[in-house]
Amino acid sequence: MTDQAPVIAIRDLHKAYGALEVIKGVDIEARRGDVVSLIGSSGSGKSTLLRCANLLEDSQQGEILFKGEPVAWRGKGHDRHPADPKQVLRIRTNLSMVFQQFNLWSHMTILQNVMEAPLTVLKRERGEVEAAARGYLDKVGIGDKCDAYPAQLSGGQQQRAAIARALCMEPEALLFDEPTSALDPELEQEVVKVIKDLAREGRTMLIVTHDMKMARDVSKHVVFLHKGLIEEEGSPDALFGAPKSERLRGFLSSTM
Ligand code: ADP
Ligand code: MG
Repeated sequence: MTDQAPVIAIRDLHKAYGALEVIKGVDIEARRGDVVSLIGSSGSGKSTLLRCANLLEDSQQGEILFKGEPVAWRGKGHDRHPADPKQVLRIRTNLSMVFQQFNLWSHMTILQNVMEAPLTVLKRERGEVEAAARGYLDKVGIGDKCDAYPAQLSGGQQQRAAIARALCMEPEALLFDEPTSALDPELEQEVVKVIKDLAREGRTMLIVTHDMKMARDVSKHVVFLHKGLIEEEGSPDALFGAPKSERLRGFLSSTM
């Protein structure tokens, strides 16, 4: 557990749903300050990989390490599960996820949404959490929406609230699963701007996205997944500027 260890490292990960093999031996890591983007066709396993990384899904083989600390497993294969609930909680709260569909609580105000997990999961002090929550809502540009309910916000504002909620957990890294896919193009850009600001600040992020322009702009490293395997990976300039594999070339031309 040194500062040199990646915040998140996945080694030779395998995941199947029943007989359907979805992740077939994938290695990915993000060091502190790295932005790693995951691209690939629908069904290639991008969401599954993110969900395995923060232990929302079990995996059957391979290692997941958080700051050098390997996830402790019990059992094997389809009977393999994390052994230590405290470790799961620590990892999950430190790899804060932002979903395509925002997943805000509709019966809570925006401020309550952002404060909920720090209060109930981390048991932090209310005054301190409220100050932090207001700060993060300001940061994503919706400080004036604290008392609104999610339904009163645009999709772009809801997604920015979801990002503030993730930030309020003070996580080591942020995991984004297609954060702009549910948004109209004009609202997409306000979310892209927030993600760019976070990248500039040196936040560690794993981003699943269909937005190739954003991936090119913000990433240190880009991974192209095809049917549960890494088909090609490298710097954004290499991947987008000089793709080697036929499949990646085909994928990129289909997204333009
Ligand atoms: P992506 O995010 O790249 O579109 P997913 O990780 O969502 O891909 O899905 C990868 C594959 O796993 C797909 O074939 C999908 O149908 C399958 N899959 C995803 N979630 C489940 C599930 N809960 N049960 C069974 N199959 C699933
Ligand atoms: Mg997906």
